[in-house]
Amino acid sequence: MAEFSKTEQDYLKAIYQLHEKTGGLVGVTDIAAYLKVAAPSATEMIKRLAKKDLVAQKKYYGVSLKPEGYHEARFILKSHRVWETFLVDQADYQIDEVHEEAERLEHSSSKRLVERLYALMNFPKTDPHGSEIPAERFWEGKVVTLDLSQAEIAHRYQVVALTSEIKDFLAYLTIEQPKFITVITILADDSVIVKTEDDVKFVIPQFQRTAWQLTYYAH
Ligand SMILES: [Zn+2]
Repeated sequence: MAEFSKTEQDYLKAIYQLHEKTGGLVGVTDIAAYLKVAAPSATEMIKRLAKKDLVAQKKYYGVSLKPEGYHEARFILKSHRVWETFLVDQADYQIDEVHEEAERLEHSSSKRLVERLYALMNFPKTDPHGSEIPAERFWEGKVVTLDLSQAEIAHRYQVVALTSEIKDFLAYLTIEQPKFITVITILADDSVIVKTEDDVKFVIPQFQRTAWQLTYYAH
């Protein structure tokens, strides 16, 4: 997979967003205005992107993204929006504080990091501004499915499905259904002490373990 410079990514994202706004080919002067650069430098950069087969240029008409450029533009957009979501939801940023941070983070984040954050936040559909987060995956980790009897100590798992029996058990313990659990200890009788994302610890009896359907991301 090709590596892209920050400038290349900014151009690809600009072309993508200008196309979204107006449809059709995107004018070089519009790209220059959008990125606040002089028209000749935009012309120069477009030439370079065309040489790399990332964009197609039709003289006097404008520019469009080729498949690889389109793919990278969508990734940068996803990176930006995943970071904004993360900063607001997980790091207590205010919505009006996140754009500048995301502008920097979007370029320095690997596809793996962005997809892992995206999965960690349970695949959010939109960012805090309401813009759609591209749902396609840019890095394919493998999702492994297992039950609690196969889980390992100190690992964190996503809870996929719970039987009504387990739901009743949790209600009886007055514990909210966890999205994630971490295995703390496996006791001598094979019951398991787990911790939820809210730091609530409880014991799951041996006979209940296979009823806990879990997943995790393998790398
Ligand atoms: Zn933003």
